[in-house]
Amino acid sequence: MSLDQIGEIRASVAALCAEFPGSYWRALDRERAYPTAFVEAMTRAGFLGALIPEAYGGSGLGLRVAIEILREVHKNGCNAGACHAQMYTMGTILKHGSDAQKARWLPGIASGAIRLQAFGVTEPTSGSETLALSTTAVREGDTYVVNGQKIWTSRAEHSDLMVLLARTTPKDLVARKGDGLSVLVVDLRESAQGLTIRPIRTMMNHATTEVFFDQVRVPAANLIGVEGQGFRYILDGMNAERALIAAECIGDAEWFIAKASAYASDRSVFGRPIGANQGVQFPIARAYAQTRAAALMVERAAELFDAGAPCGEEANIGKMLASEAAWAAAEACIQTHGGFAFAEDFDIERKFRETRLYQVAPISTNLILAFLAQNALKMPRSY
Ligand SMILES: Cc1cc2nc3c(=O)[nH]c(=O)nc-3n(C[C@H](O)[C@H](O)[C@H](O)COP(=O)(O)OP(=O)(O)OC[C@H]3O[C@@H](n4cnc5c(N)ncnc54)[C@H](O)[C@@H]3O)c2cc1C
Repeated sequence: MSLDQIGEIRASVAALCAEFPGSYWRALDRERAYPTAFVEAMTRAGFLGALIPEAYGGSGLGLRVAIEILREVHKNGCNAGACHAQMYTMGTILKHGSDAQKARWLPGIASGAIRLQAFGVTEPTSGSETLALSTTAVREGDTYVVNGQKIWTSRAEHSDLMVLLARTTPKDLVARKGDGLSVLVVDLRESAQGLTIRPIRTMMNHATTEVFFDQVRVPAANLIGVEGQGFRYILDGMNAERALIAAECIGDAEWFIAKASAYASDRSVFGRPIGANQGVQFPIARAYAQTRAAALMVERAAELFDAGAPCGEEANIGKMLASEAAWAAAEACIQTHGGFAFAEDFDIERKFRETRLYQVAPISTNLILAFLAQNALKMPRSY
């Protein structure tokens, strides 16, 4: 896709976002409410089906374009956290599902008739150590019986399906460390029996929950790929997620930088614009440089992904640098605005809370550094 075409898509995303100004997000933030109207508009516009091939009703635009969509959403002061997973969670089905499973779910996901935006991996006790998860799925005839608990399962209350990672073979019986976990698609509409979803109130409006499974029956037909290979399937999907969320961070950084530089040029104290002082302008300029550099890495990750080439290193570096650039820009924006940064109406304190998440989730910075140290630099493993 040419830069002109990308520019056209970004312009239509910006036009959509103009319908959802700061006042819309502030009201939701106060109530911790889901941005239903925004998600519906994103769905109607077809943006959430960007990674689904045309054969299944998506637009098949690829990750290079998808990152621009989310970047533009955030650059315009909106937040795609409520629906970004509709874009990428289906990747596990697309890549590892059977033809029948793809035909069953992907067209509905592309149109928005089916919401697949819940991803149940993290558990309270396992944390970043995914292989230590203890939710089990035991095969009984043509169903799996699921028991256990997930935490931070975002958007579960706004999702029809959940991609669940559960243990199907006990840890001490597997040949290789990464074996024994399986991916099941849980239909949250059909599997209500034994399933409890509890919202967790967080420092930003994120619709995240904890999910309890008590003898929940999931049809064996909903197993993705081969039983016991689920951990690899989940790892496979993570690069797209990293790049997309990194793009949101870049958009956040761009929003903070635009806001900070405009205010610094406008606000006069001691008889001249505060932005004439290098103590004010340098942090903004530094955040700008960090953002430009991070964007190049994220774009590179997406290009490699679309070419079917390995991109784990680029996606992880991009996600780390982008989350740090967003944070530097947020800091500079707060400092530049002085006291006004703390007033709700400026939207800065809300965006500040929102963008902090991405140094922790979906993967924390330390885990990215450990990945780079161990894989790129071949240093000893720390875990
Ligand atoms: C708002 C929100 C939404 C989320 N949404 C989802 C979701 O939809 N689905 C889902 O499955 N999960 C989700 N998560 C979970 C998220 O992926 C985890 O919080 C994240 O991976 C970190 O895991 P943890 O919180 O258990 O931290 P821990 O693993 O307990 O780590 C705590 C700290 O210790 C550090 N640490 C741990 N081990 C090491 C080590 N070996 N070396 C160096 N440092 C280390 C980490 O970097 C981190 O800073 C969400 C989290 C939040 C807060």
